[in-house]
Amino acid sequence: MSFDIIIENGQIIDGTKTKRYAGDVGITGDRIEKIGDLSGADAAQRIDARGKIVAPGFVDVHNHSDGWLLKTPHITSKTMQGFTTEVIMADGISYAPVNPHTAPEWIYYLRALNALRLEEYSGWESLADYMTLLDGKTAQNVLTHVPYANVRTMACGWGREVPDDYQMRMIVQEIALGMEAGAVGLSTGLDYISQCFSSTDEFVEACAPLVEMQGLYVSHVRYKKGTLAGVKEAVEIGRRAGIPVHISHLKGTAAEPAEEIIRYIDEVAVNEVDFSFEVYPYMPGSTMLNYLLPYEVWENGPLGVLRHLTREDIRDQFGQSLQQMPLETTTIAWVASKENSEHQGKTLREFIDERGGLAGDALADLLIEENLAVLLVLTAGEDDEIDPFLSHPNFMLGTDGILHEPVDVPKKGGDVFEHFGSVKDSPSYTSGTLRSRIHPRQYGSAARVLGPAVRVKQLFSLEEAVYKLSGYPAARFGAKHRGEVRVGWFADVVVFDAETITDRATYADPHQHSIGVDHVLVNGRLVITNGAPVPKLGNPLPGRSLKFKE
Ligand SMILES: [Zn+2]
Repeated sequence: MSFDIIIENGQIIDGTKTKRYAGDVGITGDRIEKIGDLSGADAAQRIDARGKIVAPGFVDVHNHSDGWLLKTPHITSKTMQGFTTEVIMADGISYAPVNPHTAPEWIYYLRALNALRLEEYSGWESLADYMTLLDGKTAQNVLTHVPYANVRTMACGWGREVPDDYQMRMIVQEIALGMEAGAVGLSTGLDYISQCFSSTDEFVEACAPLVEMQGLYVSHVRYKKGTLAGVKEAVEIGRRAGIPVHISHLKGTAAEPAEEIIRYIDEVAVNEVDFSFEVYPYMPGSTMLNYLLPYEVWENGPLGVLRHLTREDIRDQFGQSLQQMPLETTTIAWVASKENSEHQGKTLREFIDERGGLAGDALADLLIEENLAVLLVLTAGEDDEIDPFLSHPNFMLGTDGILHEPVDVPKKGGDVFEHFGSVKDSPSYTSGTLRSRIHPRQYGSAARVLGPAVRVKQLFSLEEAVYKLSGYPAARFGAKHRGEVRVGWFADVVVFDAETITDRATYADPHQHSIGVDHVLVNGRLVITNGAPVPKLGNPLPGRSLKFKE
């Protein structure tokens, strides 16, 4: 018998929580063809996994890779942790679907998350268009949600008016199209533009096209109004619509500690709906500075915001919401302009003091200078507070990662220049631009769950950790025949060292790859080998656009 690749002598953790066992994995083409003793078999390539774990590729169910994947075909910060599939278009805000009116608004609005510029817009409109752009053009597989605000703004603009019957029909039709294109369900972000104006009833109606496929209602709930009330609203929407519910980046707060939220999940949520949630394994968060603006500035769309920012009353309200923020421990992670990049890494307090005047004025001016594109990272909070969520049986991992790296340049023929190591090695590095100070979750989330959470904190077994990263999210988000090391299934495979795997990214120095992952295969092709990215991935690239349950 002959294989393309044999991964031999490893311990297989298959992604189902079953205890590890010794075995070789034989791969032909994009599939796992045989598991067992393959010492007598031929192979074009043999990978020695002695002393290592062989596991299914990991699925990141929440991230902001949407735009980065278009221009960073290999997001090494993710594959170096073992991620092989990205589920994009979270929080109800993304780049598709759009129409010629909404496209420039979304590109402008999302700059702090994805950094796409208008000149990079190539004319896509539907969700299917966007997924086609990524198919075979990325190192990782991609699944998508239908982002709700994109759909709503196409039907009825950016304001707070309740959609009329005709507009509601357009919304439902567009979501149905997204499901046909292979979306996993609907993503919503009820603290974000457009959707902050939507009612519970509106969401129930919008979810009708999800029922047949049992697509997921995935929600960043109204956290600003209180976590528990927000989660209850999501459960109500799922129960009334008759679909599963998944909560995005669920955490406790000082007012609503983890125990209280988990009690509600165990006693109510899991009995009312098919329920799951994700969170990244860090207590501090990261968000856009414009997230703190009063909702009324968004009523004419993102391109209309700047003129509201000169208003006295808006600056006052913004100043008041800044009082809820720990200014001393919130840092400026990234800004769009070279001029202000010297402020990356400074705390908001330092920036405000340097500028002088009121906090609301200093930061409203910064938003005007940056065309709204300012990303923040919060650094206060104890990571141990996340542990009860990580240990919960309904938890899976979502990094919520935001990249902001100098961009890898695709070379002719689809090969990817690997930016790996110093930022100055990147061909797109512009001298004078300082490095972003993004949240370390982009680089460290999976390694934290497999390493420190298992070895040091002993929250769960390694078999359970792998399940939370592979088998569980793949099944939940409909990545069919993925998420397990199983004969006949796709060869998305990770080889890692259980003794050494750990995160290294910090708030002060976030651009540090995790260590301990030796090899990563996507659809049977190596993207990481011997602990480093494969320099030339060929054309097409190994990643595919996947469809829900297909
Ligand atoms: Zn969110």
